[in-house]
Amino acid sequence: MHKLFSTCLLLLVIAPAYAGEETKDAKDYVVVIDTQSRYIFKARPTTVLPTKNPKTGKETITRAAYCAQCPGCDRWKDVPLDASPETNPKAFTCPKHGLMTTYGEIPKDLKYIEDLQKKLNKD
Ligand SMILES: [Zn+2]
Repeated sequence: MHKLFSTCLLLLVIAPAYAGEETKDAKDYVVVIDTQSRYIFKARPTTVLPTKNPKTGKETITRAAYCAQCPGCDRWKDVPLDASPETNPKAFTCPKHGLMTTYGEIPKDLKYIEDLQKKLNKD
């Protein structure tokens, strides 16, 4: 628990510094979230969601949206795969703060889920 807390603190401190850099290549990936662990990853836009968590083998990795006003550890939330913010704003609404976005601050070293899946298949 203590480790998780310090990781979140670290993200809060470093994330804003990289925000501008990350938006440049924002089209190269989508942010996805594991609905079980709440960890986020990058996914290539061609990847079919939900996709497998390489550790559990379960298809719990799905699309995520971002609320900038939520606490640092809880900003990314899973959203329905068959909705868009334009057609279904309700699905992209944070229960506390309102409309979420499909982009937002992520750690600079965030891994591609495809790379993790490949790595685990090799092991
Ligand atoms: Zn929120």
